[in-house]
Order: sequence, then structure tokens, then C-alpha cells
Amino acid sequence: MQFRSTGASEPLVSFKDVILRCIPPDGGLYVPATTVDMRQFFLYMDTSATYPELVATVTPSLLQGELNPFSASRVAESAFDFEPELVLLDERLSVLKLYNGPTGVFKDFGIAFLAAVMEELIKRNGKAMILSAARGHSGTSMARAFNKRKGMTSVILYPEGPIHGLDEEDFVTHGGNILPIQIEGNYGDCQRLIREAINDRPFAERYSITSANAINAGRLLPQSFYYLYAFIKVKRHLRDDLVFSIPSGNFGNLIAALYAWKFGMPVGGFIAAMNINNAFGEFIRGRRFVKKPVVSTLSPALDVASPENYTRLESFYREAPVVMRNMVFPDSVDDKSTMEAMEKAWKKYGLLLDPHGAVAFAAAQKYHASRNPNGHVVVMATGHPAMFSDLVTQITGERPEQPERFALLQREIDAPVKIAPSLDTLETAVAALV
Ligand SMILES: *Cc1c(COP(=O)(O)O)cnc(C)c1O
Repeated sequence: MQFRSTGASEPLVSFKDVILRCIPPDGGLYVPATTVDMRQFFLYMDTSATYPELVATVTPSLLQGELNPFSASRVAESAFDFEPELVLLDERLSVLKLYNGPTGVFKDFGIAFLAAVMEELIKRNGKAMILSAARGHSGTSMARAFNKRKGMTSVILYPEGPIHGLDEEDFVTHGGNILPIQIEGNYGDCQRLIREAINDRPFAERYSITSANAINAGRLLPQSFYYLYAFIKVKRHLRDDLVFSIPSGNFGNLIAALYAWKFGMPVGGFIAAMNINNAFGEFIRGRRFVKKPVVSTLSPALDVASPENYTRLESFYREAPVVMRNMVFPDSVDDKSTMEAMEKAWKKYGLLLDPHGAVAFAAAQKYHASRNPNGHVVVMATGHPAMFSDLVTQITGERPEQPERFALLQREIDAPVKIAPSLDTLETAVAALV
């Protein structure tokens, strides 16, 4: 499979170049340029396949010429010591739990694969410095994924505020390969510095700078694998359309779902489940996208004014507007319905959902009521209910169990380096420490 920039149709680049360059020279975003039909692999795959087995089976065909079956197995095994979990609730409803990774959100899957595949692809003669901005627990996810990987240094930029979930033992200053840097600025400043560093070509080439933020298409591709995994697990139960309900903020998870469809997954469509920050639904319906101010809700990861993957989604719509309009169903769920969904999922199925999963659950119910009562909907449970322990307990009367691995997420540390938000200072700091 080859990639192109959303800004141009040429030149085509390899997956290795995509993950190591991250941002195309024309300032667009990388998207797959060729489609690979993967049906023969997952249609006939054993329903008992483990997640690493699935990943090891599909990646050599997707990344033909770049990853042989042996390398693919190595990557899959080293990336995933956690798996998605599909639970069939009834004949028309399943939930795919995507929160078994180190930080309890689905983003762990893309980051873990990116780190493992990067190590494999640069193993012969390369190195990489992965410069990423941290928000929520993503810094922890990156530190776990890149820790001790050969030839790689993970530099994590934190905006002002307390830093949690890192272990000093892993830091460059202690002989490890993780370097947290606190930026005297906000998350936007961190993102801007990364773009500037990648576009400063002499610097970027000297250190082989790339990023593990969502702009890296090497995170999106592996997110398509868990859709295929869900398909394998539910396929014997399907009597009608298969539909995925996806809580959508920056729309990365939805883009990954569209990749899975492009690889040949038989699917009836995707519900883009938003909270009341639903301006992007207008674009999906074929109207002009008009940005609206963000309103705070119970599902903060969906409180997004302008999705980071806008240009990627737009490029899908430009290629096949009619197909897209029939494939993606936008929906909007308010806080009251979100809480009702949390209560219903618990009372009816004994299922604890975080508010993001609950938005998708509520949208699934609406799909059954108004669009197709017989479709089978897979609800993407993107976050661990224990992350919203008080809210979940208040609504369901049941306190979610705290996984032991979350203890690290509470731990506060001091960044070894604090700098002003300028490219010069960042480059000086990196040069001094790495
Ligand atoms: C990031 C996140 C989302 C939104 O995913 P996008 O790919 O940005 O649409 C949904 N739920 C949780 C728990 C998240 O952390």
C-alpha cells in the first residue's frame, strides 16, 4: 500500500516514509493512495484468532514489500500485550471494549503499533526521535509504547500544568529513552513546535524527527485492525447489516473504520456519534462545515470545534461523495441521553460504560429505532469506565473496578526540562540531552 498527501496526488510514498516523515512537504496529511482487498484473509479467518494473530496476518499484505510475515509477527507480538474484547449483548448489539491498554483508551492501540513497527522498519540502519504533544494520558501511552525501543528517543512535550504517569527510571537523564519537556505554553503551542521542528529540515534530518501524534497516519492504519477483529468475532451472528457506532471527536477512529471498509470489510455503515458539539455532522450531510464554539459536556474527548482529521475525511468525500453519504450516519447525543444510556446499558446488560461509550450506545439505540431495527450494531467502547468512576457510580450504583495499571497514571512527576515555547529553545534542549 502506498500513501499520498491530501494536498497532492503525487508523489506516492511508502509506509516507512509516512511514519518517519509524518507531515508531507506540502503541509497536508498522508492518506492511503491505493486500496488493498483483504477479504480473503479475514472472511475465512478462524473466529478464535487472537488479536496479535489477526494483526500478523493482515499487515504483510497491507504493507507488501515492507513487512514480511516474520517481521509482522514480531511487530504484532511486541506491540500488543493487551487485546480488544468483543462482548455480544444480544442478536442486534455488541460492544467492542477498546480500553484494555496501559491508559484505558483506544488510542493505546495505534500508538503501540506505531512504536513497534517503527522499531522494525528502522532496525537495519536508522534511528528516530519521536516528538509528540501530550494531552490527557497520551504521554503515558507514548512512554509505555516507545520505552527501551532500539534507536529511538521519545520526546514528549507537555503544556503547563502537572504531569502524571511517567517513571523517572525511563528518562534520558537516567539512561533511558524517554524525555518529557514542559513547554511554558498550551497544547496548541506544543503542536505548533512539532510542526516547526519537522519543517526545519536540517534539524529534522539530523535527528530523524517524526511524531506519534494523530497526524501520523501510522497510528490510523492499525486502528482499522480492531474493526476487522470485531467483524471476525460477530460474523456468525449477522443476519442483516453490520454497523459500527463510533464516538467521534477528531474523527480518527471513524477514518480508521473507513479504511477497514476499503480493505473489503462487509459493512452497512458507520454511525458518527457526536455529543452536542455536532457542527461536523453538517459536513457529513453534505452541507458546508461551519465551526461553532465548543461547549463542555460529560464526554470531553468529543468536545472538538474543528476535527484534526478534517482534510482526511474531506478527501474521502471528494473521491466518492454518494457512497460516503450512504455509509456515514451522523448523530448527536446530549448529556441527558448520555446518562440515560449509561443507566440502560447497566440495567439491561450489566455493562458499565464511560460517557464516550455511552454516546455511541445511545446513538445505536436511535439507529435501531429509526433506521434499521434488524441491523447489528457494534458499540465502540473507547474509554475505561474507571476513568469516570464517580459519574459511573452515581448513575449505575456500581463502582467500576480500578485496574492496577492505572496506579501509574496518578503519579505526579517534575519534568527534567522546562522551556519557553520557541523552536530555538527546543532544539537547544534536545541537542544538549540526546
Ligand atoms: C480520543 C477519544 C475519542 C474520540 O476519538 P477520535 O478519533 O478523536 O474521534 C473518543 N473516546 C475516547 C475515550 C477518547 O479518548
